[in-house]
Amino acid sequence: MIICGLQKLSLIDYPNKIACTIFAYGCNFRCGFCHNPELVIKAAEGLKTMKIYSEEDILQFLEKRRKYLDGVCITGGEPLQSFQYADLKFFEKIKSLGYLIKIDTNGSFPEKLSEIISKGLVDYIALDLKASKEAYSKIAEFSSSNNSNCITKIEKSIQIISKFKEYEFRTTVLKSFHTEKEVIEMLKWATNVAGEKVKKYCLQGFKKSGKLISSSMEKEPETDEDYLKKLAELVKPYCNSVDIRV
Ligand code: SF4
Repeated sequence: MIICGLQKLSLIDYPNKIACTIFAYGCNFRCGFCHNPELVIKAAEGLKTMKIYSEEDILQFLEKRRKYLDGVCITGGEPLQSFQYADLKFFEKIKSLGYLIKIDTNGSFPEKLSEIISKGLVDYIALDLKASKEAYSKIAEFSSSNNSNCITKIEKSIQIISKFKEYEFRTTVLKSFHTEKEVIEMLKWATNVAGEKVKKYCLQGFKKSGKLISSSMEKEPETDEDYLKKLAELVKPYCNSVDIRV
């Protein structure tokens, strides 16, 4: 795994835990609303301008902060893209220091995720559920020739994660795209694939702060709380619990 960022303290990235967050290089998607373009766009250009943290840098930091932090959130980019099976040892070392591990994923790497789960090296998984099956490529911007492969992998991840002890599916809501119909179609698809209701689902409002991948997103309005609440009511039949994050 190639680590390009470390946030030393986060009270929001790992639910109900005090955590640090590490940011991994690269992503196979190009969501226009992505708030981490430096990890996605620059990744396509190479690693020349980025600070890279070694495994040792991170472990030394974690060793010092053991008393103050509960967990490590591993995010990106898409952290599983650059994850190698040799990184299982890195995860083992993090766990041996007493930390919980959360992984944020776009669902494209179910085999890697399965391996991490089978070794007991993750405690919480957050899956970005971006759109209905039919509309997924419009948001994630993978090519139509790659569509069925990407969808198959995301469906596999939905199945794996929905059986995991602690997880959430979450959607960044764009008002121009996530109509009521679209959101219901997305949840119908996810629950059909999982074979059960979503245990925990979060609707996150789109925000314009910071850099975004696509300049077209400058026209997109920020998502208001009332709209998130309306969607939360609509998706309740498909979820055991629904949160909104404004
Ligand atoms: S999947 Fe996540 S990291 Fe990748 S482009 Fe989309 S929002 Fe950004």
